[in-house]
Amino acid sequence: MNTVLKKIKFPEKFLIETIWSDGFQATIKLEILRDNCPCADCNEERNNKPKSFIALDTFKPGKYLIKKINVVGNYAISPIWEDGHESGIYPFEFLRELFERHNLSNEEIERIKDIHKKSKNN
Ligand SMILES: [Zn+2]
Repeated sequence: MNTVLKKIKFPEKFLIETIWSDGFQATIKLEILRDNCPCADCNEERNNKPKSFIALDTFKPGKYLIKKINVVGNYAISPIWEDGHESGIYPFEFLRELFERHNLSNEEIERIKDIHKKSKNN
């Protein structure tokens, strides 16, 4: 694949935006990125857990917040999450697919921002 990731931005602390060498640009929720973590531990967790129990998952603070994103060579990114998880390596091809599949419209982004604003005020 010749398309490479050019830039990563965080328009909000719960959103991540990527810009690619072919001009493609997309924003998704950080929780999508984390929930699709391709590392062996997360894969195992997803495969072994019955769907109905996922909601009861023990929630670690910072699970969906990024501390830092490392770029691995010129082919992948490796996010470090606030809860300390850092073993996921996302090849550009996989990342691009995630962003194409979960790309948020401007409307959706505004709605998500609203929800976060409201929950902060309560
Ligand atoms: Zn993982």
